[in-house]
Amino acid sequence: MIGASTRVLVLLGDPTEHSLSPRIQNAGLRSLGLDAVYVALRCDAHDAPGLIRGIARAGGAGNVTLPHKEIAAATVDHPSELVRLTGACNTFWGEADGIHGENTDVAGFRAAVEALLGRSAAGLRVLVVGAGGAARGALAGLLADGVGEAILWNRTGARARALAEALGGGPIRVVEALSDVEGSSVDLLVNATSLGLDDADPLPIEPATMRGGAALLDLVYRPRETRLVREARGLGIRAADGGEMLVCQGAEAFRRWWRREPPIAAMRQALEEVREGPPESVTP
Ligand code: NAP
Repeated sequence: MIGASTRVLVLLGDPTEHSLSPRIQNAGLRSLGLDAVYVALRCDAHDAPGLIRGIARAGGAGNVTLPHKEIAAATVDHPSELVRLTGACNTFWGEADGIHGENTDVAGFRAAVEALLGRSAAGLRVLVVGAGGAARGALAGLLADGVGEAILWNRTGARARALAEALGGGPIRVVEALSDVEGSSVDLLVNATSLGLDDADPLPIEPATMRGGAALLDLVYRPRETRLVREARGLGIRAADGGEMLVCQGAEAFRRWWRREPPIAAMRQALEEVREGPPESVTP
Protein backbone atom coordinates (compact mmCIF):
# COMPACT_ATOMS: atom_id res chain seq x y z
CA MET A 1 0.00 0.00 0.00
CA ILE A 2 1.34 3.44 -0.90
CA GLY A 3 1.42 5.63 2.22
CA ALA A 4 3.15 8.63 3.76
CA SER A 5 6.41 6.74 4.28
CA THR A 6 6.58 5.15 0.83
CA ARG A 7 10.01 5.74 -0.76
CA VAL A 8 9.86 7.17 -4.28
CA LEU A 9 12.21 5.83 -6.95
CA VAL A 10 12.15 7.34 -10.40
CA LEU A 11 13.30 6.86 -13.95
CA LEU A 12 14.20 10.22 -15.53
CA GLY A 13 14.47 10.47 -19.30
CA ASP A 14 12.77 11.63 -22.46
CA PRO A 15 10.92 9.63 -23.64
CA THR A 16 10.29 7.15 -20.83
CA GLU A 17 6.99 5.55 -21.81
CA HIS A 18 8.68 2.65 -23.64
CA SER A 19 10.79 1.65 -20.65
CA LEU A 20 10.40 -1.75 -19.04
CA SER A 21 12.32 -0.62 -15.92
CA PRO A 22 9.15 0.24 -13.90
CA ARG A 23 7.85 -3.30 -14.43
CA ILE A 24 11.19 -4.86 -13.46
CA GLN A 25 11.89 -2.61 -10.45
CA ASN A 26 8.38 -2.75 -9.00
CA ALA A 27 8.45 -6.55 -9.25
CA GLY A 28 11.70 -6.50 -7.24
CA LEU A 29 10.23 -4.15 -4.62
CA ARG A 30 7.09 -6.30 -4.27
CA SER A 31 9.07 -9.51 -3.94
CA LEU A 32 10.87 -8.12 -0.87
CA GLY A 33 7.81 -6.34 0.52
CA LEU A 34 9.60 -2.97 0.48
CA ASP A 35 7.53 0.17 1.06
CA ALA A 36 8.55 1.92 -2.16
CA VAL A 37 7.32 2.66 -5.66
CA TYR A 38 9.23 3.13 -8.93
CA VAL A 39 7.75 5.52 -11.49
CA ALA A 40 8.89 6.95 -14.82
CA LEU A 41 9.06 10.75 -15.12
CA ARG A 42 9.53 12.28 -18.53
CA CYS A 43 11.55 15.47 -18.10
CA ASP A 44 13.68 17.83 -20.16
CA ALA A 45 17.40 18.58 -19.79
CA HIS A 46 16.67 21.79 -17.91
CA ASP A 47 14.68 20.03 -15.17
CA ALA A 48 16.78 16.85 -14.82
CA PRO A 49 19.46 18.23 -12.40
CA GLY A 50 16.86 19.73 -10.05
CA LEU A 51 14.86 16.50 -10.02
CA ILE A 52 17.97 14.40 -9.30
CA ARG A 53 18.98 16.66 -6.40
CA GLY A 54 15.51 17.08 -4.96
CA ILE A 55 14.52 13.43 -5.15
CA ALA A 56 17.83 12.20 -3.68
CA ARG A 57 17.69 14.75 -0.83
CA ALA A 58 14.11 13.76 -0.06
CA GLY A 59 15.23 10.16 0.51
CA GLY A 60 14.38 8.90 -2.96
CA ALA A 61 16.72 7.58 -5.64
CA GLY A 62 16.54 6.66 -9.28
CA ASN A 63 17.74 5.80 -12.73
CA VAL A 64 18.49 8.15 -15.60
CA THR A 65 18.08 7.21 -19.23
CA LEU A 66 18.42 8.88 -22.63
CA PRO A 67 19.22 11.71 -23.14
CA HIS A 68 20.12 12.78 -19.60
CA LYS A 69 22.91 10.39 -18.54
CA GLU A 70 25.66 12.95 -19.21
CA ILE A 71 23.75 15.65 -17.33
CA ALA A 72 23.36 13.25 -14.41
CA ALA A 73 27.11 12.57 -14.44
CA ALA A 74 27.72 16.30 -14.07
CA THR A 75 25.03 16.70 -11.38
CA VAL A 76 25.93 14.09 -8.76
CA ASP A 77 28.38 15.09 -5.98
CA HIS A 78 30.17 11.74 -5.94
CA PRO A 79 30.49 10.19 -9.38
CA SER A 80 31.93 6.66 -9.27
CA GLU A 81 35.10 5.79 -11.16
CA LEU A 82 32.94 4.30 -13.95
CA VAL A 83 30.83 7.46 -14.18
CA ARG A 84 34.03 9.48 -14.55
CA LEU A 85 35.40 7.07 -17.18
CA THR A 86 32.21 6.91 -19.25
CA GLY A 87 30.89 10.42 -18.60
CA ALA A 88 27.48 8.82 -18.08
CA CYS A 89 25.46 8.16 -14.92
CA ASN A 90 22.35 5.98 -14.95
CA THR A 91 21.85 5.52 -11.19
CA PHE A 92 21.73 8.06 -8.35
CA TRP A 93 20.95 8.03 -4.64
CA GLY A 94 21.53 10.23 -1.61
CA GLU A 95 23.83 9.62 1.34
CA ALA A 96 24.84 11.81 4.29
CA ASP A 97 27.77 13.25 2.32
CA GLY A 98 25.75 14.11 -0.81
CA ILE A 99 24.42 12.54 -4.00
CA HIS A 100 26.17 9.48 -5.38
CA GLY A 101 26.13 8.34 -9.00
CA GLU A 102 26.99 5.04 -10.66
CA ASN A 103 26.95 3.66 -14.20
CA THR A 104 25.40 0.22 -13.76
CA ASP A 105 25.10 -0.26 -17.54
CA VAL A 106 28.73 -1.41 -17.41
CA ALA A 107 28.04 -4.19 -14.89
CA GLY A 108 24.84 -5.04 -16.77
CA PHE A 109 26.75 -5.43 -20.02
CA ARG A 110 29.42 -7.63 -18.41
CA ALA A 111 26.74 -9.85 -16.87
CA ALA A 112 24.96 -10.15 -20.23
CA VAL A 113 28.21 -11.22 -21.93
CA GLU A 114 28.77 -13.80 -19.21
CA ALA A 115 25.20 -15.11 -19.60
CA LEU A 116 25.59 -15.42 -23.39
CA LEU A 117 29.10 -16.86 -23.57
CA GLY A 118 29.35 -18.62 -20.21
CA ARG A 119 32.56 -16.65 -19.66
CA SER A 120 33.83 -13.07 -19.64
CA ALA A 121 35.25 -11.22 -22.65
CA ALA A 122 38.82 -11.59 -21.34
CA GLY A 123 41.20 -12.08 -24.26
CA LEU A 124 38.42 -12.16 -26.87
CA ARG A 125 38.16 -10.28 -30.18
CA VAL A 126 34.95 -8.25 -30.10
CA LEU A 127 33.33 -6.06 -32.76
CA VAL A 128 31.25 -3.19 -31.38
CA VAL A 129 28.96 -1.35 -33.80
CA GLY A 130 27.86 2.09 -32.59
CA ALA A 131 29.50 4.89 -30.62
CA GLY A 132 26.75 6.39 -28.45
CA GLY A 133 26.06 5.91 -24.75
CA ALA A 134 25.44 2.16 -25.02
CA ALA A 135 28.72 1.60 -26.89
CA ARG A 136 30.54 3.66 -24.26
CA GLY A 137 29.20 1.41 -21.48
CA ALA A 138 29.93 -1.74 -23.48
CA LEU A 139 33.52 -0.69 -24.21
CA ALA A 140 34.10 0.22 -20.56
CA GLY A 141 32.84 -3.26 -19.66
CA LEU A 142 35.07 -4.91 -22.25
CA LEU A 143 38.10 -3.01 -20.96
CA ALA A 144 37.27 -4.02 -17.38
CA ASP A 145 37.04 -7.64 -18.52
CA GLY A 146 40.48 -7.47 -20.21
CA VAL A 147 39.23 -7.83 -23.80
CA GLY A 148 41.88 -8.93 -26.31
CA GLU A 149 40.80 -6.53 -29.07
CA ALA A 150 37.72 -4.31 -29.33
CA ILE A 151 37.10 -3.30 -32.93
CA LEU A 152 34.86 -0.24 -33.10
CA TRP A 153 32.81 0.93 -36.06
CA ASN A 154 30.26 3.70 -36.21
CA ARG A 155 28.32 5.37 -39.03
CA THR A 156 29.87 8.67 -37.94
CA GLY A 157 33.57 7.79 -37.81
CA ALA A 158 34.61 10.90 -35.87
CA ARG A 159 32.37 9.86 -32.98
CA ALA A 160 34.03 6.43 -32.84
CA ARG A 161 37.49 7.97 -32.85
CA ALA A 162 36.54 10.40 -30.07
CA LEU A 163 35.10 7.56 -28.00
CA ALA A 164 38.21 5.39 -28.37
CA GLU A 165 40.36 8.34 -27.34
CA ALA A 166 38.16 9.17 -24.33
CA LEU A 167 38.50 5.58 -23.13
CA GLY A 168 42.27 5.69 -23.48
CA GLY A 169 42.70 3.69 -26.71
CA GLY A 170 44.37 0.53 -25.41
CA PRO A 171 42.90 -2.54 -27.13
CA ILE A 172 40.26 -0.45 -28.95
CA ARG A 173 40.82 -0.25 -32.73
CA VAL A 174 38.57 2.01 -34.80
CA VAL A 175 37.78 0.93 -38.36
CA GLU A 176 36.50 3.31 -41.00
CA ALA A 177 34.36 0.78 -42.87
CA LEU A 178 32.63 -2.42 -41.86
CA SER A 179 34.10 -4.02 -44.96
CA ASP A 180 37.49 -3.73 -43.20
CA VAL A 181 36.40 -6.46 -40.78
CA GLU A 182 33.73 -8.41 -42.65
CA GLY A 183 34.98 -11.87 -43.42
CA SER A 184 37.45 -11.80 -40.53
CA SER A 185 36.78 -13.79 -37.45
CA VAL A 186 35.53 -12.30 -34.20
CA ASP A 187 34.36 -14.01 -31.03
CA LEU A 188 31.56 -11.60 -30.23
CA LEU A 189 29.57 -9.04 -32.16
CA VAL A 190 27.83 -6.27 -30.18
CA ASN A 191 25.12 -4.08 -31.65
CA ALA A 192 25.24 -0.83 -29.70
CA THR A 193 23.34 1.25 -32.26
CA SER A 194 19.69 2.11 -31.83
CA LEU A 195 18.82 0.16 -34.99
CA GLY A 196 16.36 -2.62 -34.24
CA LEU A 197 13.93 -0.77 -32.00
CA ASP A 198 11.63 -0.96 -35.01
CA ASP A 199 11.39 -4.23 -36.95
CA ALA A 200 11.49 -2.20 -40.18
CA ASP A 201 14.97 -0.79 -39.35
CA PRO A 202 17.85 -1.96 -41.54
CA LEU A 203 20.19 -4.44 -39.83
CA PRO A 204 23.23 -2.67 -38.30
CA ILE A 205 25.39 -5.52 -39.60
CA GLU A 206 24.71 -8.73 -41.53
CA PRO A 207 25.46 -11.55 -39.07
CA ALA A 208 26.23 -13.88 -41.99
CA THR A 209 29.27 -11.78 -42.97
CA MET A 210 31.19 -12.62 -39.81
CA ARG A 211 33.31 -15.76 -39.75
CA GLY A 212 34.37 -17.97 -36.89
CA GLY A 213 32.41 -18.83 -33.77
CA ALA A 214 31.00 -15.35 -33.35
CA ALA A 215 28.17 -14.89 -30.89
CA LEU A 216 25.93 -11.84 -31.05
CA LEU A 217 24.76 -9.53 -28.29
CA ASP A 218 22.19 -6.96 -29.38
CA LEU A 219 21.91 -4.24 -26.73
CA VAL A 220 18.54 -3.21 -28.12
CA TYR A 221 15.60 -4.78 -26.34
CA ARG A 222 11.95 -5.00 -27.23
CA PRO A 223 9.14 -7.11 -25.81
CA ARG A 224 9.81 -9.53 -28.67
CA GLU A 225 13.20 -10.64 -29.95
CA THR A 226 14.87 -8.15 -32.31
CA ARG A 227 15.22 -8.90 -36.02
CA LEU A 228 19.01 -9.04 -35.68
CA VAL A 229 18.74 -11.71 -32.96
CA ARG A 230 16.11 -13.62 -34.96
CA GLU A 231 18.27 -13.64 -38.11
CA ALA A 232 21.44 -14.58 -36.23
CA ARG A 233 19.67 -17.48 -34.49
CA GLY A 234 18.33 -18.56 -37.87
CA LEU A 235 21.96 -18.92 -38.98
CA GLY A 236 22.79 -21.00 -35.92
CA ILE A 237 24.62 -18.11 -34.22
CA ARG A 238 24.30 -17.88 -30.42
CA ALA A 239 22.48 -14.59 -29.86
CA ALA A 240 20.75 -12.56 -27.18
CA ASP A 241 19.08 -9.16 -27.03
CA GLY A 242 19.49 -6.45 -24.38
CA GLY A 243 16.94 -7.92 -21.93
CA GLU A 244 19.50 -9.55 -19.64
CA MET A 245 21.61 -6.37 -19.61
CA LEU A 246 18.51 -4.38 -18.69
CA VAL A 247 17.67 -6.70 -15.79
CA CYS A 248 21.28 -6.81 -14.54
CA GLN A 249 21.83 -3.03 -14.69
CA GLY A 250 18.56 -2.67 -12.78
CA ALA A 251 19.65 -5.23 -10.20
CA GLU A 252 22.93 -3.34 -9.66
CA ALA A 253 20.98 -0.09 -9.19
CA PHE A 254 18.70 -1.86 -6.68
CA ARG A 255 21.80 -2.98 -4.76
CA ARG A 256 22.96 0.67 -4.43
CA TRP A 257 19.55 1.99 -3.33
CA TRP A 258 18.81 -0.69 -0.76
CA ARG A 259 22.27 -1.97 0.23
CA ARG A 260 21.07 -5.52 -0.05
CA GLU A 261 21.17 -8.41 -2.50
CA PRO A 262 18.80 -7.60 -5.39
CA PRO A 263 15.92 -10.02 -6.05
CA ILE A 264 17.16 -10.73 -9.57
CA ALA A 265 14.95 -13.79 -10.14
CA ALA A 266 11.80 -11.71 -9.53
CA MET A 267 13.14 -8.93 -11.75
CA ARG A 268 13.97 -11.37 -14.56
CA GLN A 269 10.56 -12.99 -14.17
CA ALA A 270 8.88 -9.58 -14.63
CA LEU A 271 10.64 -9.13 -17.97
CA GLU A 272 9.63 -12.65 -19.03
CA GLU A 273 6.00 -11.92 -18.16
CA VAL A 274 6.03 -8.86 -20.42
CA ARG A 275 7.54 -10.99 -23.15
CA GLU A 276 5.06 -13.82 -22.77
CA GLY A 277 2.05 -11.49 -22.59
CA PRO A 278 -0.20 -10.68 -25.52
CA PRO A 279 1.58 -8.34 -28.00
CA GLU A 280 -1.17 -5.73 -27.81
CA SER A 281 -0.64 -5.23 -24.06
CA VAL A 282 3.01 -4.23 -24.32
CA THR A 283 5.00 -1.33 -25.69
CA PRO A 284 8.58 -1.69 -26.87
P1 NAP B 1 22.72 6.98 -28.78
O1 NAP B 1 23.70 7.55 -27.81
O2 NAP B 1 21.67 7.87 -29.37
O3 NAP B 1 23.57 6.32 -29.98
C1 NAP B 1 22.93 5.77 -31.10
C2 NAP B 1 23.92 5.00 -31.95
O4 NAP B 1 23.19 4.38 -33.02
C3 NAP B 1 25.00 5.86 -32.60
O5 NAP B 1 26.19 5.11 -32.73
C4 NAP B 1 24.40 6.15 -33.99
O6 NAP B 1 25.35 6.42 -34.98
C5 NAP B 1 23.77 4.80 -34.27
N1 NAP B 1 22.72 4.91 -35.29
C6 NAP B 1 21.51 5.48 -35.15
N2 NAP B 1 20.82 5.39 -36.32
C7 NAP B 1 21.64 4.75 -37.21
C8 NAP B 1 21.50 4.36 -38.56
N3 NAP B 1 20.38 4.62 -39.26
N4 NAP B 1 22.53 3.70 -39.14
C9 NAP B 1 23.67 3.43 -38.45
N5 NAP B 1 23.86 3.78 -37.16
C10 NAP B 1 22.85 4.43 -36.54
O7 NAP B 1 21.92 5.76 -28.13
P2 NAP B 1 22.46 4.75 -26.99
O8 NAP B 1 22.20 5.29 -25.66
O9 NAP B 1 23.85 4.37 -27.35
O10 NAP B 1 21.46 3.52 -27.17
C11 NAP B 1 21.58 2.64 -28.28
C12 NAP B 1 20.65 1.46 -28.04
O11 NAP B 1 21.09 0.69 -26.92
C13 NAP B 1 19.21 1.88 -27.72
O12 NAP B 1 18.33 1.05 -28.44
C14 NAP B 1 19.08 1.63 -26.24
O13 NAP B 1 17.75 1.27 -25.88
C15 NAP B 1 20.00 0.43 -26.07
N6 NAP B 1 20.46 0.32 -24.68
C16 NAP B 1 20.17 -0.81 -24.02
C17 NAP B 1 20.56 -0.96 -22.71
C18 NAP B 1 20.21 -2.23 -22.00
O14 NAP B 1 20.22 -2.25 -20.77
N7 NAP B 1 19.93 -3.30 -22.73
C19 NAP B 1 21.28 0.05 -22.06
C20 NAP B 1 21.59 1.20 -22.77
C21 NAP B 1 21.16 1.33 -24.09
P3 NAP B 1 25.80 7.96 -35.29
O15 NAP B 1 26.82 8.30 -34.24
O16 NAP B 1 26.36 7.88 -36.65
O17 NAP B 1 24.56 8.79 -35.20
